[in-house]
Amino acid sequence: MNLNLKGRKAIVCGASKGLGRACALALAEEGVDLVINARNAEVLAQTAAELRQQTGVSVQAVAADITTEAGRKAVLAACPGPDILVTNAGGPPPGDFHAWDEQTWHAALDANMLTPIFLIKAVVDGMRERGFGRIVNITSSAVKAPISILGLSNGARSGLTGFVAGLARETVVDNVTINNLLPGSFETDRLTSTLESYAQKLGTTAAQVRQQQMQANPAGRFGDPSEFGAMCAFLCGTQAGFITGQNLLLDGGDYPGTF
Ligand code: NAP
Repeated sequence: MNLNLKGRKAIVCGASKGLGRACALALAEEGVDLVINARNAEVLAQTAAELRQQTGVSVQAVAADITTEAGRKAVLAACPGPDILVTNAGGPPPGDFHAWDEQTWHAALDANMLTPIFLIKAVVDGMRERGFGRIVNITSSAVKAPISILGLSNGARSGLTGFVAGLARETVVDNVTINNLLPGSFETDRLTSTLESYAQKLGTTAAQVRQQQMQANPAGRFGDPSEFGAMCAFLCGTQAGFITGQNLLLDGGDYPGTF
């Protein structure tokens, strides 16, 4: 399927590794020019070089903390009028809610709710004027089914989800869609550290938790980031203009509900 994205411009945040990187690669394979972002400049530059080499598109790397105003400014300055925005940042730390003070909650809200909202605010009007825009927020399956040790994620991401549900229905008339992609368990660094936290809590090893969780998933495995990237690219394609305000779960069937 040709997604008709050749020559479009995308900002992909949190894109040096994992799911963000997979989204960037899938878009680049469709001929989309990229501005990619992450904090570690060296790892980001390496990813940018690999994406250029693999796909031949233009890739600009902006090393910055996207959860800060200065970071968002730097990324937007590199691409003030994107056709596509993929929001992403690291997830909040796991833990027990008794230990989380106001500062911890504010950090989670900044990273996983307010940062995507401020980025959307900066680009959405231009997209509407130009008659094309695709915004994809990487959130979490925790939005549909809370994850016990990730209370900060359960809470902060639900705020973003509620906001997007409203705005997505206003922008679609101008061919600007906003959707959320909800990852279940995907093979990334983030998953490895989450498994380690579970293992500590349960007094077992990360390898054992990994095995148990894979077996418990109807697919019998974790997801491959390329599967996530492909869905992101499809949502950005011209054919997906009638899909907006949705929360699309990619979890191998792990969530047990009919709807
Ligand atoms: P990952 O492998 O750890 O990659 C995270 C990426 O985001 C890296 O490129 C990282 O680079 C960048 N990043 C982190 N904080 C940032 C910041 N403040 N500013 C800019 N870039 C930042 O994580 P992942 O597994 O791809 O997860 C992506 C998102 O999906 C996270 O929010 C995670 O909680 C969520 N999620 C993942 C899973 C899963 O199974 N993998 C499941 C549910 C939800 P730097 O560290 O260099 O900045």
